[in-house]
Amino acid sequence: MSDCIFCKIINGELPSTTVYEDNEVKAFLDISQGTPGHTLVVPKKHVADIFEYDAQFAAAVFSRIPKIARAIKKSDPAIKGMNIVNNNGAIAYQSVFHSHIHIVPRYTTNDDFKMIFKDNSANYTPDDLQEIATRIKNSMEE
Ligand code: 5GP
Ligand code: ZN
Repeated sequence: MSDCIFCKIINGELPSTTVYEDNEVKAFLDISQGTPGHTLVVPKKHVADIFEYDAQFAAAVFSRIPKIARAIKKSDPAIKGMNIVNNNGAIAYQSVFHSHIHIVPRYTTNDDFKMIFKDNSANYTPDDLQEIATRIKNSMEE
């Protein structure tokens, strides 16, 4: 993809601060540094989002995450936890449409990363949940 910023980083046309690289992925510091050490793990092959992954590609990309995450954690004793986030689609906050996984080190409860899971459980009966689950099951690939 000639106009893709992450393809340009991967092929060396644009600089990045790389922390890990192999045949499948390149991991480099996110320019925003949401928290210190915020890293992007980016597949070398251009795919837009998770919906374009098959099982083999997912295995290749996601298998790199634990060792990169452990290295980031080990790099700074102030890191107490980590959020691993993959945004898919503009509605889900994706802004670069070359798939990537954010590794966001967490330091304190009031550091600069926030994620809110609203509790809507009171609005759902067991039947409502079953109906949603059935629709998902019926949509599952082999
Ligand atoms: P998204 O919003 O698509 O999940 O995440 C895209 C991320 O890419 C953002 O966190 C943004 O800071 C980062 N980003 C955008 N352009 C560049 C760049 O040129 N270099 C680096 N290292 N990160 C970038
Ligand atoms: Zn790309």
